[in-house]
Amino acid sequence: MSMLQFNAVHTHYGPIHVLKGVNYRVEQGEIVCLLGANGAGKTTTMKTILGLVRPSSGGVTFNDQRIDRMTPREVVKSGIAPVPEARRVFARMNVMENLELGAYTRHDHAAIAEDLTRVFDLFPRLKERRKQMAGLMSGGEQQMLAIGRAMMARPSLLIMDEPSMGLSPIFVERVFDTVQAINKQGVTVFMVEQNANMALTVASRGYVLQTGEVVLEDTAANLLQSELVRKTYLGESIEIK
Ligand code: ATP
Repeated sequence: MSMLQFNAVHTHYGPIHVLKGVNYRVEQGEIVCLLGANGAGKTTTMKTILGLVRPSSGGVTFNDQRIDRMTPREVVKSGIAPVPEARRVFARMNVMENLELGAYTRHDHAAIAEDLTRVFDLFPRLKERRKQMAGLMSGGEQQMLAIGRAMMARPSLLIMDEPSMGLSPIFVERVFDTVQAINKQGVTVFMVEQNANMALTVASRGYVLQTGEVVLEDTAANLLQSELVRKTYLGESIEIK
């Protein structure tokens, strides 16, 4: 069994059929990326993992346990932490308070302190700014905080929705370096990303979702070579004959 597995998952928003029988699997230790155009169902995939959207049929397992009927809190407690889209941090709280909130399901105070040190080692800037109100930081710093907060849950699986969105190129590179560093610490990563080039450079495997269906799944190296990915996601021009 894979660490995370979608088994023929369908989702609906009322009459709108979004995911149409998708099967994803994420193995322990991998970085897996999900590519897809706007409206393909990427955010719905992430919400389904978190228990925010219920499949209308099919199921999702995490470490052999059904999670598709759990509450979001139970999902987080089982070892999955989200880095939400648009780096949603609590703007009126300071850096430290945001990080403490990341550990809200935990009571192991010594381990929480260790994890805080680990996050500050990863992002020294957050340590310098720990009293700063989160909403006043730059977009890149807020993304670091969103990742740091997710790490405070000590997840075994980190799920990320468009981690590079809206960031300057230098921060994009830092985000992907961080994803690799976190993965090397033993955290499995499943991410949605529009920046296919960067995502496929750090990922081991990937899926391409089109209007709710997986149309391609392969190793990241093969996806980077694939014509569909090159034309649709890497902006290569299409030859007109
Ligand atoms: P994007 O990159 O634009 O966020 P996405 O691949 O993440 O796209 P989703 O957000 O999963 O796509 O949306 C998939 C489809 O479901 C879209 O057609 C969207 O309009 C629709 N949808 C999403 N949320 C809802 C909702 N709460 N109610 C009704 N329809 C929704």
